[in-house]
Formats: sequence, structure tokens, C-alpha cells
Amino acid sequence: MAKTVKKNYYRILLQWLVLLGIAYLVVRPRIDKAYTADFEAYCPFGGLQAFSSFLANNSLACSMTTTQISMGLALILGIFVFSKLFCSYLCPIGTFTEWLGRVGKKLKMNFVITGITDRILRVFKYAVLFITFYYSVTSSELFCKTFDPYYVVFSGFSSDVVLSYAIMALFLAIPGSFFVRQFWCKYFCPLSAASNIFTYGYIFLGITGLYALLVLAFGLNISWIWLLGALSLAGVLLETVKLKSWGMPWFRITRNADTCTSCTLCDKVCPMAIKISDKPVVDHIDCHLCGDCITRCPEKDTLQINRKRLNWLPATATAVLIVAGLVFAAFTDIPTINQRWGSPEQMENAGVYRQSGLASIKCFGSSMSFANHIKELKGVLGVETYVGDRSVKVFYDKSVLKEDDIRRAIFTPVSSVIASPGDGIKTVSVAEAAIDKFFDPNDAMLLGIRFEQNKGIMAVQTVFGEPVHTLVYFDNNLINIDKIGKLIEEKRVTWMVDGETRAAETGFTVASIKMKENKLALSDYLALMYEPVEMSFNGFEEYNPDQLDSLDLDFPGAADPAFSDMPWYLLSHVSNDKGVVRFQSIFTNSGIKLRLIYVPALTNKNKLITLLNQPELDIHMSDGTRQVMKNPYKF
Ligand code: SF4
Ligand code: SF4
Repeated sequence: MAKTVKKNYYRILLQWLVLLGIAYLVVRPRIDKAYTADFEAYCPFGGLQAFSSFLANNSLACSMTTTQISMGLALILGIFVFSKLFCSYLCPIGTFTEWLGRVGKKLKMNFVITGITDRILRVFKYAVLFITFYYSVTSSELFCKTFDPYYVVFSGFSSDVVLSYAIMALFLAIPGSFFVRQFWCKYFCPLSAASNIFTYGYIFLGITGLYALLVLAFGLNISWIWLLGALSLAGVLLETVKLKSWGMPWFRITRNADTCTSCTLCDKVCPMAIKISDKPVVDHIDCHLCGDCITRCPEKDTLQINRKRLNWLPATATAVLIVAGLVFAAFTDIPTINQRWGSPEQMENAGVYRQSGLASIKCFGSSMSFANHIKELKGVLGVETYVGDRSVKVFYDKSVLKEDDIRRAIFTPVSSVIASPGDGIKTVSVAEAAIDKFFDPNDAMLLGIRFEQNKGIMAVQTVFGEPVHTLVYFDNNLINIDKIGKLIEEKRVTWMVDGETRAAETGFTVASIKMKENKLALSDYLALMYEPVEMSFNGFEEYNPDQLDSLDLDFPGAADPAFSDMPWYLLSHVSNDKGVVRFQSIFTNSGIKLRLIYVPALTNKNKLITLLNQPELDIHMSDGTRQVMKNPYKF
């Protein structure tokens, strides 16, 4: 009877949990349109880059938060004590390429590279590691996003991806690992290189400690690039020369030679193709304590961890480290940027203002824009931003500024046209709403989208206040103030982009809402919300008024927010007739009018109406070129 082959359920369980987590991130945004999947939310490699950026620049890279940093620190601790647990139990690229390699092996198309070729190929991953950290720390953007096969696939080749790098990485990871055992992991993965450097724990701590001593104790100005170079070089030398871990981790696979029958089943099952059957202790640099060999060995207690029945330990340690990392992240707050402009004495007495719910604080770049903006306010001494909860801390001189001044400086007023005034409308009603949890321009954008889907609301303006005041301009024949209040408090907003539904949750509550006493005359509303489009050309000033005539036409299309730039293009098109010398949009109580001033000796009304109704507009661009555009107007 054929013997049942035991399976390493601890490992399989964790690998499948990770894959299910990724599947959840893929599927949920399709069901819940307000949900945005973050495929890097727990990435320890992103965390290591962000932490390096924090140590070198006092800022975090990209949109990294304490969560990824905690995962990175948990990874290092795990390697020091146990082994490369992330590679073994969690890495989706490792899981996928290992399974791919098994298919290749079944088809007898997978082989192992050995000898000098193996040693030389191992250098590549250290080069990738050096380049990745160098560019991530110097630019505060995660360089790994340009090529990481996992990010490339699950971000759907996002704009951060560099196509040539991505294609190369995918080629090395997918066909590479099909034909060669763990081709990507062994030779090109930068996290594998970083993990191996941590595996040489004493060397890592020695070099890092020496660097810290020289910089911190002796005050030498040595760039972090030297530390990165020294660690990468140490990794290359130790791995290519020795191929063995050194000093760490503390837990290793041990083999009892007395009970071993040299069947070599362990050698065959090892995903890293390590020859286990002739070693008393597996100290190969590639061993990541997966335990597959222990599960496969038919001789009881022959393969163990530290000569004990600890095959449950690595998976348990992986789970404990993840939980510990998450708990640590929940109680730690590392700012994305941390800038100080005040002297130490000023900082000691500084006031601190915290504002959360700022959707525009989403990465390093937007944090820097915020810092540059708020720095211009006299009395601001420093700023910290936290992309995790989209909040900022502003440090200020209490003798110069009050909290309200800072809040006002952070506030960005919005004035947005939502729909054209309807036919026959002569006056516009105005509702004034004070809205809680409504501050950011992004909030105004979401409310604008919701209003757009309801007839009658024409425009929204936000005015600084506590809470922010919002003016809603509407046609009270089509919608009333109660309905507007209900729309503001709806919890969800959905909209379409390129045929796909998007959604977002909003938590706005109306603190108060009232009608403004006086309605606005339509002409006043138009003058308030629209820029007049007017320009003279074709030698306007050379003519006397008695040489000119005018053509006035209804121009309702000029109020359409979907074509806000088009009146300027129409102006350019009309200027092609040398008899037209002035173009002017006029706001009246019957809507927007177009007035063309022209020279009757050169052109006439019929020619102008034909020109205005041409199906395509012939436009002069500012760079001297010409462009043709579909004409949306009918006169
Ligand atoms: S030696 Fe054993 S524990 Fe280490 S990688 Fe190979 S199969 Fe896994
Ligand atoms: S599988 Fe077990 S018995 Fe067979 S060679 Fe490996 S350690 Fe020895």
C-alpha cells in the first residue's frame, strides 16, 4: 500500500491565508466601490525602505506608515531569532514561484544552478538591493514599485511602474522560476538580499554599530550611502564565498545521523534545493526554516529544529510577530514628514494644532506641499504629517498665531459650478449650511458629485467657519432646502469613471441650514460663478465705433460646466474671420449672451452664424500650433 506523504500544514495554512488576503483585496473593491485596496499595507520591504528614509531624512518614503515599518522591524527580529520567516510563510512571490517550480519539476523542466554560476548570480540581488534603497531614500518614493512583480501585477501596472523594469522582473520571476529552482528569490529579490544580510546578524550589527559610533559619538559626517554600500558588499562576500549563515538565527534544522537512512527525500523536497542529507545542522544561507524537510522525513525525530520537536514553532512565531507588529503600529505614530523651522527655545514653548481628515495628505509629496504652504504663515515653527490617518500637527508661536489662524490657513475655499441654470430661471436661491466633518477640498468634491446627480443644484462655495460654511446655489422650483440637507447627510457617493463605478463614504452632518433672505438675480449669480470671456483682436482699436456693428446671440452653452474652457476655444475659432474684432460673453437676467463686434465692410451676420455653427472649431494654440476640436455649440 502506498504510504501517505505528510504535508506541512502549518506552512500551507499561512501561505493560503496570505493568498486569501490578497484575493480579498482584489475582490472587495469590485463589490464595495468605496473601498480602495492597498496592496502594500503590510509590506515589510516597503517598511524597511521607509524606516531607512526616516533615519536618513527624518521623513517616511511615499505613503508608508508605522504599520509597514512595524512589519519590517518584525521581519528583522524574526530573522535574528528564527529565520527568514517572511520568505518561507508569507511572501506571495515566494509561494507562487515555488509552486511554479514544482510544476516545472513535475514536467522535468526545472533544474538547479550550482557551482560558480550559482555564486556569481547571487551578486545580482545585492545590486538590486543597493539601487532600490539608494533611490528610495534619496527620492522618498519607493523605488521597488517600479519593478516589484507583486506590485506590478496587483496595481495593474500603475503609473509608478517602469514598464521595462517590470517586464524584466516578471520574466525573471515567472519563466525564470519555472525553469530554475527559486530563480527570483535566490538571485534577484532585493528583500532576499536584505534578509541574508540580517541573517549575518553579528556582521550587520557590527557594521551598523560602527557607523553609528563614528557618526553619533565621533561626529563624523559619513553619508548613509557608505553604510548601505558596506552592508551590501558584506552580504555579497559572505554569501558568495561561504553560502552559510553566521551566528544567527538561533533556530536551525538539525539531523540525527544515527537514525537517518540517507534516503535523500529531504533533499528532494527542499524548495531551496539544499542538500540536507549530509549535514548535521542546516546552516545554508538559503534555509528559511519552512520545515518541509521535517514533514517529509520518514524517520521519526531525525530532522528537528535545534534537536527538539519544534516544527510548530516557525509558523507560530510568524503569527506572533505579525500580531506584535500590528500592536506596536497601533501605539506608535511616526510622522511622514517632521520639519522644524523654529529655534529650540521657540519649539519648547510652541503651541500644537492638530487637524485630521485632510484627504490631501496622502503621501510624502503631498505632505511636502502642505509644509511649504503652511510655512509661509508667519509664526509657524514646524509641521508633522501623518498619512496613515490623514492628519497634520502644526507647531506655532502662541504670541503670533491663534489656532483659528492656522485652521484658516489650512482651509482651501472651493467655488464649483455643478450645472447650468435651467431655462427661464430669473433668480437663484441660496442655502447656507454649516457642515460638520467637512473641511477638505476633497469633501467639497464629493458633495459636488452628489449634488450633480440631483436636478436643481447649480453651484457650491465653501467659506471658512467653525464648522465650514457651504453656500448652495439652487433653483427652488426643482429642489428645496430640506432635500439639500438630506443630500448632504447621505453616507455614500458613487460616480462613474471610464465606465467603472467608483464610490466613497462621507460622514457629513448638517449643524445648521437656512435660506439666505434674498435670492440672487440670475445676472449676479452668473457674474459670481463664471469668468467673463472677452477679448479684442484683429486690430479692434484701429476702427472707429461707426465702422463697427454687433451681433448678439443667446449663449446658454457657456454656462455648461462640462465645457468650461470651450468659450475660449470658440473665441479663437471666431478670430479666424478677420472681420470680427471683439468677442464678449455678457451676463444678463435671461442667461449668458454672446456679443461679437465686427466690421461690416469685411464680414456679415450670416457669415458669422455659419462660422459659429461649423461642426469643428479651428483653434490657435498658445505655442503657435493649430488644433481642430468638435464644436459643442449651436447658435
Ligand atoms: S532545509 Fe528544510 S527548512 Fe530549510 S528551506 Fe530546506 S526544506 Fe525548508
Ligand atoms: S529524509 Fe530523513 S532519513 Fe531521509 S535523508 Fe533526509 S534526514 Fe535522512
